[in-house]
Formats: sequence, C-alpha cells, structure tokens
Amino acid sequence: MKVILLGTGGPRPDPRRAATTTLIRVGDDNVLFDAGRGVVVQMAKASIPLDRVNPVLLTHHHFDHIGDLYDVMLNSWMPAYRVRHGDGLGFPPAFLQRWMCYGYRFEAEGKVVAISGDTVDCEGLSQLAHGADLLVHCCYMASAEIEDEQFRRVVQHTLAGGDTVGKIAARAGAKILALTHHRPRRDQHYLQILAEEVARDFAGRVIVGEDLTEIEV
Ligand SMILES: [Zn+2]
Repeated sequence: MKVILLGTGGPRPDPRRAATTTLIRVGDDNVLFDAGRGVVVQMAKASIPLDRVNPVLLTHHHFDHIGDLYDVMLNSWMPAYRVRHGDGLGFPPAFLQRWMCYGYRFEAEGKVVAISGDTVDCEGLSQLAHGADLLVHCCYMASAEIEDEQFRRVVQHTLAGGDTVGKIAARAGAKILALTHHRPRRDQHYLQILAEEVARDFAGRVIVGEDLTEIEV
C-alpha cells in the first residue's frame, strides 16, 4: 500500500502546492480522498491513470477539497467518521447540518491509513485514527505562526495546528504522521518549526507533506 499526498495546500492559491488531496494505491487500485485544485494534473505527475481511480471519497464540500471534482469521475461517495470542522464558531444548527466534514479510515493488506479531513481534536477523529499505521492529518500552521485572533480561532475550531496534531497522533498510537493542508507561506523555515513542535508530542516518524510525497505503508 502506498499513500501519495497529491496536494498539500489549502483554499488560498499557493504556487508551491495544489489543494489538499490524498491518494492510496493498493496494487493497481487507487482510492482518491478529495479532489482539490489541480488533482488531475497531480495524478498525471504521479503517473496515476484516471480510469484506475475508484472510488473518490470526499471529506467535505469546501471548494479546496472538491474544486476539481468535475475533472474526476465520481464513482461513489460514502461517509466514514464525522469530524469537527468549525463546530465551535457559533453557527446556527441548521447551517452546521450542511457544513459536515468526514475523516476516513482505510484498511487493506493488514494496514490502516487514517485521513483526518479538515478537523480539530474530536471523538470521530480518535476512532478513525486508532492504531493507524499512517495518519494523514491537516496541520494548518505552527503555533509560532498564529498572528491574531482569526488564526487562533482557525486552529481551535477548524483546522488543527502544530500544538495539537502530535498529541492526537500519540494518543491514537499512530506509527507515522504526515502533515498536510498547509497555509501558504513565504517563509518556508516555519515548516521546520512546525515539524519540531509536532515532534515534541509525537515520538513516531513525522513527514511534513509536500505535493507528490509518496509514503510506503
Ligand atoms: Zn480544507
């Protein structure tokens, strides 16, 4: 089983990263998680034939995760675990019912790959990540990058940051932790700061995801 981080960026256009999209290869089978900006181009770069992708699973309906879905054949859609994504921001319940987000637990060849979706620490995440050989987790920014109240609310309620992702992986007993869904950065040295912050809480292998990173599981 191989996991390819096809895109590791977020909703804002980033010249270094396509939007967050992850692919799992098992033999000749390919399962695509999300279909963000640039997904088809990234699959071509990774030599993934489009007609060998089945199914496509969506974590949620934000445009950075479905923006290029039209470009991919949508074969199926099914939830796994519901995760928290913006639930604490004070939106009315009717709005939150439409703003749902899922993470996925993928089991094959005796191995487990967990994909967080866009979330913060929550029960659904604990269930899907338990004992994972690889946890692909959104990690928007290091604590040192939190410049204002808006960013603080993002990492508290919407996209986990460097202060919590390592704790989540350690509690789940994950073996490898791959960080995806990065903010656009002019200063790339924050990636090292982010990795060091996460490693304070997680003793396993930490991979700071880049577009087209491949991980053997
Ligand atoms: Zn997102």
